[in-house]
Amino acid sequence: MEKSPFHVEIEHGTCSCNVCHARNYISSVPADFDRQVDRMWRVQGGSPTIALCDDCLRRLQHMCSNALRPPIGDPDDPECTPWIPMTTGTRFTAVLETDPDAAPERYEVWGIDMTMGLIVLVGLDRNELHPVRSDWFITRKITLDVNPFE
Ligand SMILES: [Zn+2]
Repeated sequence: MEKSPFHVEIEHGTCSCNVCHARNYISSVPADFDRQVDRMWRVQGGSPTIALCDDCLRRLQHMCSNALRPPIGDPDDPECTPWIPMTTGTRFTAVLETDPDAAPERYEVWGIDMTMGLIVLVGLDRNELHPVRSDWFITRKITLDVNPFE
């Protein structure tokens, strides 16, 4: 089995967050100058490695989820929804556009597989997990059923 080039694990050494400078150790610098946290993460993608606090790891996760959101509809149409919210619970119907006989299928966003760069859907008609790449959405007409933000 091929080893994943991505690693996210708890950092056990003393370090500071590379983004916000929160630290996981007691410093002689006054606490109101920088933040002390209980846990730090080591995030590696290939060779580069960064240390992140919980807050900054969450911000990175949110940014990755947004980057993987596939477009739907006409981006020049101000009335259309330009993006499918890649949030757990978002439900939509997809019809394969390249097959005129294709039946609509219902899906719910389950999550993002960060290690594989996949969007994991639940096929509601067959009740099975359905991992897809973002280009899966380009070949289908998508209609949002439930947007958890609305
Ligand atoms: Zn941070």
